[in-house]
Amino acid sequence: MQEIQLERLRYPEIGALLQEGWTTAIFACGATEQHGPHLPIFVDAEHGTALALDIARKLGRTLVAPTIRIGCSDHHLAFPGSLSIRKETFENLVYDYIHSLSLHGFTHIIVVPTHGGNYQPLEDMTPRLRSAFPDIHLAVYHQLSGLLDLWRNQTQAYKGMGDRVGGHADIAETSFMLHLHPQLVRMDLAEAGFMGHFSEEVIREMIEKGFKSVTPNGILGDAHGADPELGAQLIDALAAQIVHWYRENLV
Ligand SMILES: [Zn+2]
Repeated sequence: MQEIQLERLRYPEIGALLQEGWTTAIFACGATEQHGPHLPIFVDAEHGTALALDIARKLGRTLVAPTIRIGCSDHHLAFPGSLSIRKETFENLVYDYIHSLSLHGFTHIIVVPTHGGNYQPLEDMTPRLRSAFPDIHLAVYHQLSGLLDLWRNQTQAYKGMGDRVGGHADIAETSFMLHLHPQLVRMDLAEAGFMGHFSEEVIREMIEKGFKSVTPNGILGDAHGADPELGAQLIDALAAQIVHWYRENLV
């Protein structure tokens, strides 16, 4: 099978692929931040790479650039180990990725956030990136609510547990880790977290006062019932949804 992870290829191979028309690159914007008492803190980064690889395989002739593994996670800093970059740092990083990729001849670049806190900054920077790189076909995925609906519907269909999807360290994200890194998951420590309605008010409080003010254990939703097959299905379904969105919005 063709290796599609940019960082695992040698430069002559990358040059040859570009010559053959592999001119689309994708990268995920993840995070390194607390994910409840039962999961390692690299969930969004690892999920990002798995998702980008799946999307790239579905699209074909697409290479996967390294995932940005630190995101905008100020609201998680009350939990030990969480790392966060400023919005300006994030924008500079994304800018420099696109700049580098464009120099080599990539003409289509897809950016996929796998951390909620990256969505708004990415949406804000998109017009600036577009005017900085007018020759690049830039697609920045921005449908956070569509993603949560998909997780809820799939989890309901497969396990009858759609109400356990809350969006953070829940049944969905725990299932990703059981699929990708089962040895790092402590299901004996899995818990329910904030189970209330995710209103504008709750979101505002979370951003202003931090995640801990809404959910002391760091979970939104419930991690119970997670399983690796659900994790694989959710990644595959989201990849298919993003491929569909990309083809519809191809600029
Ligand atoms: Zn996450």
